[in-house]
Amino acid sequence: METWIPPDHPRRESLLIREKLVEGFREGIVVPQGLIAHGRGECFDYLIGERTIEPARKAIKASAALLLLARRPVISVNGNTAALVPEDLIKLSRELGAPLEVNLFYRTRERAERIARKLAMLGAPRVLGVDDVVEGVPGLSSERRLVSREGILVADVVLVALEDGDRTEALKRIGKKVIAIDLNPLSRTARAADITIVDNVVRAVPLLVEEIKILKNRSREELEEILKSYDNNKVLGEALLHIKRRLEEISLTLMGSGSTIAT
Ligand code: ATP
Ligand code: MG
Repeated sequence: METWIPPDHPRRESLLIREKLVEGFREGIVVPQGLIAHGRGECFDYLIGERTIEPARKAIKASAALLLLARRPVISVNGNTAALVPEDLIKLSRELGAPLEVNLFYRTRERAERIARKLAMLGAPRVLGVDDVVEGVPGLSSERRLVSREGILVADVVLVALEDGDRTEALKRIGKKVIAIDLNPLSRTARAADITIVDNVVRAVPLLVEEIKILKNRSREELEEILKSYDNNKVLGEALLHIKRRLEEISLTLMGSGSTIAT
């Protein structure tokens, strides 16, 4: 499947990620719209420099603290994240004792079942969001309103990735604390969330698992202290400034080196 990508291809990592999504698409886990959403993410990843930036590290630390302090944290899973980072989401679920919940923008029962089956096969302890859904998020059209009675409906903290802005705002309106993983610091999701990790899910989820392991034995007071000193708008601003400075540097280097056409 992956063998056609030359091992020395300079963009091998990025191409391998695409392969995972295409495979997910063939398995009926990823929808075509998910492939397009990934393209938007890739574009921002290119601008960021395809690495975890400092503002994302701050957001990951705050997210770990919030998830550890939560009474009922839930990890929302969609087609793209089930294709890209299923094992890491399961590790996160185990580390927190928090369920995974299949929560789809383009929901069909069949796709929800497929994703739940894949997660269960890989060893997920608890997967919600298939038979247990109710219309729990007011203000959205019916399929998008569906959440698990034992999951998002009663959760205090919800982790989402590649989420739509409308749904993030709706979750906020019903009193949830939302942690978003989103490569676009300008998206409505990024701006509506309580904590936004501006990073690729393939880098952010493993780092979040590591951070939770580190903070697991800290006192509630220490975790609350981490949250008190966290400011999401500041972090979003820093992510945008990172992109601005990086583009400035690249532009100046380009202009300094010159490139005229020999005649
Ligand atoms: P919003 O609805 O929040 O205004 P949007 O409509 O621009 O955002 P959506 O398609 O609703 O975008 O959501 C997809 C989001 O997921 C985009 O912001 C995109 O940058 C982000 N994204 C795509 N792939 C990844 C990835 N691998 N890791 C993290 N974020 C990603
Ligand atoms: Mg959207």
